[in-house]
Amino acid sequence: MKSSYRVVVIGGGVVGASVLYHLTKKGWRDVVLLERLELTSGSTWHAAGGMHTVNGDPNVAKLQQYSINLYKEIEEISGQSVGLHMTEGLMLAATPARYEWLKNIHSKGRYMGMQTELVSLDEAQRLLPLLDKSQFVGAMYDPIQGHVDPNGTTYAFSGAARKGGAEVYTHTRVMDTRQRPDGMWEVTTDKDTIIAEHVVNCGGLWAREVGRLVGLELPILAMEHQYLITEDMPEVVEINRSTGKMVLHAVDFDGEIYMRQERNGMLLGTYERHGVPWSTKNTPWDFGPTLLPDALDRITENLEVGFRHFPPFQNVGIKQIVNGPFTFAPDGNPLVGPIKGLRNYWVACGVMAGFSQGGGVGLALSNWMVDGDPGFDVWAMDVARYGDWATRAYTRAKVVENYGRRFRVRFPNEELTAARPLRTVPMHQQWLQMGAVMGDNWGVETPLWFAPPGVADAFSFHRSTDFVHVKQECQAVRQGVGISDISGFAKYEITGSGAERWLLKMLTNKMPKTGRLVLAPMLNPRGKLIGDFTVAKASDGQFFVFGSGAAEKYHLRWFDQHLPADGSVSVRALGLGLVGLSIAGPKARAVLAKLTDDDVSNAALRFMDFRTNMEVGMVNAMMGRISFTGDLGYEIWVQPEFHVALFNALWGAGQEFGIRPFGGRALLSLAREKGFGTWAREFRPIYGPFEAGLGRFVALGKGEFIGREAALREHAEGPLRQRVGFVVEAGDADAIGDEAVWRDGAVVGWITSGGYCHHVDCSYATGYVASESLAGAEHARWEIEILGELRPARLQIDPLLDPQGSRMTA
Ligand SMILES: Cc1cc2nc3c(=O)[nH]c(=O)nc-3n(C[C@H](O)[C@H](O)[C@H](O)COP(=O)(O)OP(=O)(O)OC[C@H]3O[C@@H](n4cnc5c(N)ncnc54)[C@H](O)[C@@H]3O)c2cc1C
Repeated sequence: MKSSYRVVVIGGGVVGASVLYHLTKKGWRDVVLLERLELTSGSTWHAAGGMHTVNGDPNVAKLQQYSINLYKEIEEISGQSVGLHMTEGLMLAATPARYEWLKNIHSKGRYMGMQTELVSLDEAQRLLPLLDKSQFVGAMYDPIQGHVDPNGTTYAFSGAARKGGAEVYTHTRVMDTRQRPDGMWEVTTDKDTIIAEHVVNCGGLWAREVGRLVGLELPILAMEHQYLITEDMPEVVEINRSTGKMVLHAVDFDGEIYMRQERNGMLLGTYERHGVPWSTKNTPWDFGPTLLPDALDRITENLEVGFRHFPPFQNVGIKQIVNGPFTFAPDGNPLVGPIKGLRNYWVACGVMAGFSQGGGVGLALSNWMVDGDPGFDVWAMDVARYGDWATRAYTRAKVVENYGRRFRVRFPNEELTAARPLRTVPMHQQWLQMGAVMGDNWGVETPLWFAPPGVADAFSFHRSTDFVHVKQECQAVRQGVGISDISGFAKYEITGSGAERWLLKMLTNKMPKTGRLVLAPMLNPRGKLIGDFTVAKASDGQFFVFGSGAAEKYHLRWFDQHLPADGSVSVRALGLGLVGLSIAGPKARAVLAKLTDDDVSNAALRFMDFRTNMEVGMVNAMMGRISFTGDLGYEIWVQPEFHVALFNALWGAGQEFGIRPFGGRALLSLAREKGFGTWAREFRPIYGPFEAGLGRFVALGKGEFIGREAALREHAEGPLRQRVGFVVEAGDADAIGDEAVWRDGAVVGWITSGGYCHHVDCSYATGYVASESLAGAEHARWEIEILGELRPARLQIDPLLDPQGSRMTA
């Protein structure tokens, strides 16, 4: 072993081996992997090795597709078999709701080039004779499913990496990682000390412990997971004989079961509803490749369903039960990327589907390390999606919930209940008393809608119990005035003599004059959207920047990486130290006028004006004249102790104007009518600003800013795709996002979000289509595939309401 390397990868499971391989593939040779025992000694060795491309997030699904396509490559390079069996697969639904979910997945798959097919139950039975078709209502066939040998795969990755120049040392435990003042990492092992430019934590079951070496508490937890292997089954032998193929993989969601052939029998695994966490505080260092005691009683319920759905299992004995731990993040997606404040420290952990995702994780992380950008939209697996509020207890509650729901349907209007409430604003109790149905906005309890007594969300893919109430909230805003909580936004205070210069470099727009607001996207060097902000200039050297609450840590990491070394700029996240209320609607000005001595006329307090110190009722507030509703509106910011007083003042003054609370669902409906997009839906790091319709906020002529070269190119060459809107004949199920967009019988794009526009009274969806598909668009036949049906749609380029923006500016 040398005394210095460019990269030290800690952990020789499938993920570490994949990261190592991908670094060599990107041309970095001076890289080493350290493994405390033999390769695969964590979760990897006893995995069932199953893989598929299905994931709730299409971007993760794409990386899963990549992982699977990679297996032949690493076999060829390394000469090591991965034991690849592409058996194809069936996903089975035993309830109508699950079948609707499958139809959604199928529609998503279309624009990603996946070849899933909805098949009849007869066909399902023909493909998988072990099932009893009378137990199911629908099925989806997926040609890209199979399994690999976990050991073979890990050794193939590491073998291919070695061929590319990497080194691998087993029986070498990393005991400490310390950053030196010069930024290099000192990695102490039980044998030697290595100096490295980069450290990658691929510690799997021990990723928490490895993280703690640098003071990092990663939100991951291991769960026990069981599968069993049956004795030989004559039915399996017969399928192999008559088809010449292995038995198809199957996922039976309602039985919470997955299965595949193992020798002449079957391997059957379950995600039981009441999963059991393993080693909640520390993973013992002496835990080797050993199994946990089996606990069949925990999965008898699942097995009973399985036996009913797949009758041949009733007559076969169990040969082996495997119970092993593997790690999860709170939402079940991996944690990948750089860590804010720790230069050149990277993580790739919490990978619960190493054989579907390991390749994609390795690719994204190596791109990130080598090129400074993951090259894909990895938001769904970015380690920065969790803030410091994701404590061990939070993680435990969420991971247990996620495990138990792994095969359950998550409805679009369904809020998960574990680990709540966690972050609350001072108005919390009052909102509840007013009937608020709360949503979890990255830990912050946020009113979604206001329900009359006895009414709650009925979970569904169709319009539901909230529909008429959200409509009333929307009408209250459009016709009078509404009040809502905006505390969940991220807010940053940017100060210092270099603040304006720095913001000009970070964001695409010019900076506002003192007392004014601008909207300003943020791009990465590839010219893709990594943020979308409202910027307020309070004074020379003091700005307030408002953005997506969910992206706070993601943005802070980026800001941190780009702060000048001379200390001329400082960035402070205000979190819930600054909370807010918004009033919006044509009567909002009249409400405000009752509460302040300031002149709030349209001439004195103009659209996009910003005040740092304005008395509203008894409270000193910051205020911006802007509203995401697309109506006349004000966003009013105060310190938390004034939240309730501010509300009481606005509420009292609003009575004579019929003020009504409105929640996040009404807000999105109102914003939709204006064609406004939101972060993580319409605005993501795969879209350019001109594609996204944000071109007017990109001041190409203002001088240098990050992503300008690429933005100039996009502008000159024209966007490859464009965000457009559709009015949809949706029946009783609106688009929710990720549905395929069809033009004249071919898929040309995808929906990013949709829903009902209550004021203009139509169903609307927005998404991206290939630019060339817009030629002659008005005469084309447009359809959106919702729940398996092609719904006629009309292209809607302009906002449905008030394209001139006169409501906002009046
Ligand atoms: C019963 C079971 C069935 C499963 N079935 C499937 C399946 O069908 N399909 C699928 O995709 N996934 C499956 N999985 C999940 C899969 O095993 C994991 O996704 C995968 O193994 C994660 O790999 P990893 O490299 O992140 O972690 P690990 O395999 O845990 O590897 C981490 C490695 O890091 C080493 N290490 C840790 N700390 C140090 C240190 N300080 N110094 C040196 N080395 C260190 C460890 O020894 C270990 O080898 C299953 C898991 C279980 C338990």
